[in-house]
Amino acid sequence: MKAIYEISTINFVIISLLVLVADIINYFYTGKQLNLKNFRCKFSCLYLIKMLFKFTIIVVIYIIINNKLLINITQHKYNSLLINILLWFLIVFVIRLYMLIKNILNIIFDAQIYKIKRNLHKFIIDYTLRSGIIIAFSIAFFCIIVYMYDNSSILLLSFLSAFIILTTIFQDKIQTIGIKAKEIDDEMLKKSLEDIARHAKVMTKIFVSELKSKTANACICGHGDNKKVIFSSRLMNSNFSNEEICALYAHELAHYKNNDNIKQLIENIFYIIIFIGLFILFMKHIFVTPYLIINLIYFHLYILPIIVILYVVRNIISRQIEYNADKYAANLIDKNAIISLLNKIEDDSLIKINKHPLYTFCVSTHPKIQDRILKINQFII
Ligand SMILES: [Zn+2]
Repeated sequence: MKAIYEISTINFVIISLLVLVADIINYFYTGKQLNLKNFRCKFSCLYLIKMLFKFTIIVVIYIIINNKLLINITQHKYNSLLINILLWFLIVFVIRLYMLIKNILNIIFDAQIYKIKRNLHKFIIDYTLRSGIIIAFSIAFFCIIVYMYDNSSILLLSFLSAFIILTTIFQDKIQTIGIKAKEIDDEMLKKSLEDIARHAKVMTKIFVSELKSKTANACICGHGDNKKVIFSSRLMNSNFSNEEICALYAHELAHYKNNDNIKQLIENIFYIIIFIGLFILFMKHIFVTPYLIINLIYFHLYILPIIVILYVVRNIISRQIEYNADKYAANLIDKNAIISLLNKIEDDSLIKINKHPLYTFCVSTHPKIQDRILKINQFII
């Protein structure tokens, strides 16, 4: 048992150090791209505050897992459901609080450095309301899991399977929770988009999000007759031409034609199977306490290096999916429209600062714009 705490703590310390080192490298790498002196001072101060905040959270987690606070709980015979729910509530609450402070710092950072104005007051109210709903739902969900875990593993597996199937069926509804969008009203543009859809033999509804966004992008979601493409508001409000908007639409249709949502589902099921398999092994041979939540916490810390590797692999796959969608779109419409779109997205983006290439290799879900253009030119001559 002792080895578990030690391995978990070592894993946590190593990954935390890597995160902090990445922050320091990014500080110098992005800082170099800002050359105004006064600006640099502001940038350094804000960056330091963000890093200090992250460091505090890491230290707090370190103290909790290293002084065996959690393990001491297992020495007592508390009510299993109560302890599980209490700890689960604390975890979700702390994560939401962490995200809230992180987002507030980002909004201040964006306003000061990139001159992006967002309504902080409105954000805090929206976020708090959303957090309340998320916490309530996640506790209800976790209660069911704990109850089944304590009583019947077959029931638990069936419940989880049903949950995965339902979330897949209602994926479009879940993805668009909180996104206010209206149907596209530019008739000429709508007609051009519908022409592309007919050509690709995929019909979708077309919406424009009413949320303010930093970049011009879009997403496709849903199945059957409920498929929809949602464009970000920035795409309509900036000076993108109809051809460029059509190019983005073709790229989104390509995701559907390439069955990327099914690939993603298979990928997710694969991760869930690996996760459950490893958890069963972990519980059988290595570690077990009467409380599911404590088992899960140490399990996550124990397999942290595997989680990190899978995360990087997932991003590599995601970038490949983007290249393939570009390739399909370049075959469907004029490739120059896509290249022009990509160049404009890069020019239009309010955040033009690049992070270190090694960092983007690990965390970025999309390839760099210039790499995408290079690939399109390679695919189609
Ligand atoms: Zn894409």
